[in-house]
Amino acid sequence: MPIIWDNMQRELFFSSLDTVIQSPKHITVLSHVNPDGDAIGSSLGFSQFLRKFGHEVEVMVPNDFPGFLAWMPGASEIHVYDKESELCDRILDRTDCLFLLDFNHISRSGLIQSKLKTLNTTKILIDHHRDTDIENFFCVLSDTEVSSTSELIAETVLHYGNDYLDDPIATNILVGIVTDTGSFSHSIFRPETFSLCARLLEKASSYNKIHQQVYDTFSEDRLRLLGYAISRKMEVLDEYATSIISLNKEELELFNYQVGDTEGIVNYPLSMEKIKMAVLVTERQGVIRFSFRSKGSFSVHELAQKHFNGGGHTNAAGGTLSCSMGQALEMLHNLLPEYKELLQQN
Ligand code: 5GP
Ligand code: MN
Repeated sequence: MPIIWDNMQRELFFSSLDTVIQSPKHITVLSHVNPDGDAIGSSLGFSQFLRKFGHEVEVMVPNDFPGFLAWMPGASEIHVYDKESELCDRILDRTDCLFLLDFNHISRSGLIQSKLKTLNTTKILIDHHRDTDIENFFCVLSDTEVSSTSELIAETVLHYGNDYLDDPIATNILVGIVTDTGSFSHSIFRPETFSLCARLLEKASSYNKIHQQVYDTFSEDRLRLLGYAISRKMEVLDEYATSIISLNKEELELFNYQVGDTEGIVNYPLSMEKIKMAVLVTERQGVIRFSFRSKGSFSVHELAQKHFNGGGHTNAAGGTLSCSMGQALEMLHNLLPEYKELLQQN
C-alpha cells in the first residue's frame, strides 16, 4: 500500500530528525545498489546539508555509479563498497547515525546487506517507492506522491530554511529530480514538484548545464548500443501491448559496455502509442536484470514484486533472476497471457 504522508506526519518526521541533527555526529548516507541519478543526487545533496550542522558525513553506495554522474559536486568523495569494502566497514563501524536514501528494501543494499544487519546505529529512511520496508527505523519519510527521494531532500533542506540551500546542494538535488522524472516527462504527481524546482533553480548556477552534463555526454558506443537495441533487438508483441529488448553479455561487450550505458533504453518503446509496458532484460555478472516501465494503470511494481524478486513504482520497477537469458525470456513470454487483460486496459 502506498503511504501518503500529510503535512502533520512530515512535521513529526522533521521533529525526530531535529533531535539527531542538532548534535554533531559521525553520519553515513547510504543509497541503493546500481545507484542512479536520484540515489547519487539525494545522497550528495543531503550529506552537504548535514555538514552545515558540523557533522562528519560519508556517502556510500554498494557498487559503482554511471560515469555521466561523476561531474556532480562531491561525487569524487563517494565510497563504493565493492571497491573498498574494508574502509567502508570501518566507516560503518564508527557511524552513529545511518541514513538510507531511495531504498525500498534492505536487499537493495547489495554487498553491504550482511554488514548492515550487524549495526546497532540509529537508522533513518527517506524514500519514495511503493511497499517500502519501514521496520526498524528511528524515523521514516516515505511518500509515493513525490517524484524522487531528491524531492524529499529538497523539502527537508527548505524546512530548515532557504539559507541552507547553496549551488552544490541545489545542483545535486536537481539531478535527482531531472533523472527520476525523465526530464520532467513522468512521475510528477503534484504541483509542488515544480515549485520546489523553482526554488532550487534560484540557487543552482545553470539548469541547461545540468541537463547537458547528464544527457549530452554519451560515448559513441553508448549511442550505437541504443540504436542497435531498438533497430535489432526490440520485440513488439501487439497482442500484449508490450515490447521486450534483451541484451546479453556478448552484445554489451561488443559496444564496450560501461556502467550506465543501458540507462534510458527501456523508455523508448513506450513512445509507441500502442505500447503499455516496456521491458529491458540484460545479462549482468551472472544474473539477469529486468527493467520495467509502463504507461497508465498497469503496475510493473506488482509484476516485478510477484515474479522477479523486485519492485519499485507503479510505472517503473526492476528485478533480478538467477538464470540464463533464454530462461528469463521464456519466463517473461509465458507470463504475458496472465496479464493480457490488464495490459489492454488504459
Ligand atoms: P531501473 O529499471 O531504473 O533499474 O529501476 C526502476 C525503479 O525500480 C527504481 O526506482 C528502482 O529503485 C526500482 N528497482 C529496480 N530494481 C529493483 C529491485 O531489484 N528491487 C526493488 N525492490 N526495486 C528495484
Ligand atoms: Mn528514486
